[in-house]
Amino acid sequence: KFDSEDEHTDSKVCLLENHGEKVATHYNALKECGLEERNQSRILYLRNFNNWLKSVIIGEILEKVKQKKNNICVLDLGCGKGGDLLKWRKGRISKIVCADIAEVSIEQCKQRYSDMKNRGRGNDHIFEAEFISADCTKELLADKFKDPETYFDICSCQFVLHYSFETQEQAEQMLRNACERLRPGGYFIGTTPNAFELVKRLENSDGNSFGNKVYSVTFQKKGDFPLFGCQYDFNLEGVVNVPEFLVYFPLLEMMAKKYKMKLLFKKTFREFFEEKIKNEEHKMLLKRMQALEPYSSYQKAKLGANAEEYQHAEKHL
Ligand code: SAM
Repeated sequence: KFDSEDEHTDSKVCLLENHGEKVATHYNALKECGLEERNQSRILYLRNFNNWLKSVIIGEILEKVKQKKNNICVLDLGCGKGGDLLKWRKGRISKIVCADIAEVSIEQCKQRYSDMKNRGRGNDHIFEAEFISADCTKELLADKFKDPETYFDICSCQFVLHYSFETQEQAEQMLRNACERLRPGGYFIGTTPNAFELVKRLENSDGNSFGNKVYSVTFQKKGDFPLFGCQYDFNLEGVVNVPEFLVYFPLLEMMAKKYKMKLLFKKTFREFFEEKIKNEEHKMLLKRMQALEPYSSYQKAKLGANAEEYQHAEKHL
């Protein structure tokens, strides 16, 4: 999570051929599956846990912003099908701009928003929304805003940044879109795979690949990790099967300084979980969202079970 202290500066735009089309084609082809199918998925708990984590970050950041103002405007960068719309509604924001490279996802996001609006009762809170389909690593979003004077209090970029680190220019453009239109004092929040952990697992593996029955990560080679364009293929139960790129966090932090962004915190999911679970409200939410299963065995083991059970639970975190 970063916050912007000051005015922003310009960066350059560079158009290069990249994997954007592959990513868009992949996400466009994903079908909307029903609740029943989703509930049977082997990655149900993982999905629910990711959702819980996003709910907590979003809730906390909104609380911070609300101490200063009420009229909150959000940019959801790489919004997908709009899985976070309900979280923003709960947070009673005033406006959201949703942007994604996948046109089909943007259409689904629009649909979700209008369903939410139509289902709502008279006094339910509903915010204004704008939808933009664009490659945020190549295009300047601000050129596409309905109101050219649009500025944000929060930019949320959930599970997206790793698509942008193909080249320096693309990563810069993504960051420019994320930060340039933040109001002074605004926040950038995001989640992305942990490059250190990925490299550690790769180096501990026999070949160029690691994973389990549910996921696999395949690098092209070992021992060479360029700052940009360090590609790996990620496959998760056939849900995601597109190239991603390592995000070396110290580099991201340095690049964000161009927009006068200061790092407030960076945590692994495990660290985040261990900290937030101490809060009763977050704990209840975790139960309600059915995200508890893999973590309950971890917690139980941690609270005094035997070493073997503990190690088993650790492995699954
Ligand atoms: N943020 C959503 C969430 O948390 O549910 C979706 C996350 S999904 C793992 C990644 C999203 O990033 C996809 O919707 C994909 O289309 C989008 N994406 C990937 N590359 C992008 C790019 N260059 N510009 C805009 N969106 C991009």
